Amino acid sequence: MVTKLPGPEAKKVLRKDQKFVSQSYTRSYPLVVKRARGIWVEDADGNRFLDFTSGIAVCNTGHCHPRVVKAIHRQAEQLIHMSGSDFYYSLQSSLAAKLAEITPGPNEKRVFFGNSGAEAIEAALKLSHYHTKRPRILAFLGAFHGRTMGALSLTASKVIHEKGFYPLVPGVTHVPYAYCYRCPYHHRQYPGCSTACVDWIREDLFKRSIPPEEVAAIFVEPIQGEGGYIVPPPEFHQKLYELAKEFGILFVADEVQSGMGRTGKMMAIEHWDVVPDIIALAKGIASGMPLGATVSQSEVMDWVPGSHASTFGGNPISCRAALTTIELLEEGLVENAARVGAYLLEKLKELQRRFHLIGDVRGKGLMIGIELVKDRQTKEKAIEEKSKVIQACFKKGLLILGCGENVVRFMPPLIITQKEADTALTIFEEVLKKVEKGLKNRVAFPKRK
Ligand code: PLP
Repeated sequence: MVTKLPGPEAKKVLRKDQKFVSQSYTRSYPLVVKRARGIWVEDADGNRFLDFTSGIAVCNTGHCHPRVVKAIHRQAEQLIHMSGSDFYYSLQSSLAAKLAEITPGPNEKRVFFGNSGAEAIEAALKLSHYHTKRPRILAFLGAFHGRTMGALSLTASKVIHEKGFYPLVPGVTHVPYAYCYRCPYHHRQYPGCSTACVDWIREDLFKRSIPPEEVAAIFVEPIQGEGGYIVPPPEFHQKLYELAKEFGILFVADEVQSGMGRTGKMMAIEHWDVVPDIIALAKGIASGMPLGATVSQSEVMDWVPGSHASTFGGNPISCRAALTTIELLEEGLVENAARVGAYLLEKLKELQRRFHLIGDVRGKGLMIGIELVKDRQTKEKAIEEKSKVIQACFKKGLLILGCGENVVRFMPPLIITQKEADTALTIFEEVLKKVEKGLKNRVAFPKRK
């Protein structure tokens, strides 16, 4: 750090932002970024940070990877825009073919291009209704699928996302994810109920309330992201998939956050060996260029010209950046995510043994959640402490974000080395020590306060 945070240049930006920019965004701390390279981010005052957010799971190849920068630069000289909704260019079909190859299942797939995760979900939602001609959708409590009205209707992770925006798109029913309410903490404590929610859909919901033949699709995150980095048990997605197939329902995997190598496999759903009917991709797909992709089995994507389109979706620069991103992922970044992810998980589990504040550590690859609790016995959520941990890490030069109510997430770029992981762990440990000290005092001497 070369200044206090925020520094004088950052403060100028913050003032202007406050006055002119929508204040609906969810900034956790006053980081004003000037430039970034690899895993390092520099702020407006020259302070440097280790980025364990990847710009929210976007810069999987690291910031400004030289090959991505070169690809963007070259493409910008040749063609920036022509609109794939009305004309053709080879980059779109080449990228679609590549996405068909790297997503699970045989290659007979088609891809719709948009600009964001929400748009990828909107397309999946519209396509599900169009293809099945069914009116209803199932989604999960704790899910985050985006903020446009369709995607928001599927979302159920925080009430603030929905407050003031009712009515949403009708026909969506939210069901419990791979934990149930008898397990307030985590399914691992109650292994017997790990797929109880799937049985509950079949035995209760489909018999008492929702006719399954009216359900077009089940939307599911392979690992719940915003909802708290919840990793479902090994049999969960298989069971859910079987349920979907039994009733002719489409299985839609939202891989917006978990896809593109983040979990140590190209798609997170590969950990559960399921072939979804539709996959929604965005975030890490193009190393920071805006791109959303809805990848569907060809027989499902049967809509006719005019049914759905987007002016900017799949623009040449984003497609070029995506092709280069996929090259880099295939050249070793996915393996690196698995390797360094396993190392980080192990080290964090060691920290869990030493710090009461850590109630659980979970994740796959470089999608890791650290659940904070006030007390390991009662599992009381450490909500304020979560915020303290995030702030203190920022002040010490480590960028992390939260999810769920009491979870902090580690999602560094997939280029991360073990040494960089160690640097982050050292900072994290110092912060835990500091925050836990305050916690212990409160827990040990509640009456004195
Ligand atoms: N789906 C998931 C799983 C996400 O994590 C997000 C964003 O965080 C979205 C959809 C929405 O993506 P976007 O913000 O690009 O619209």
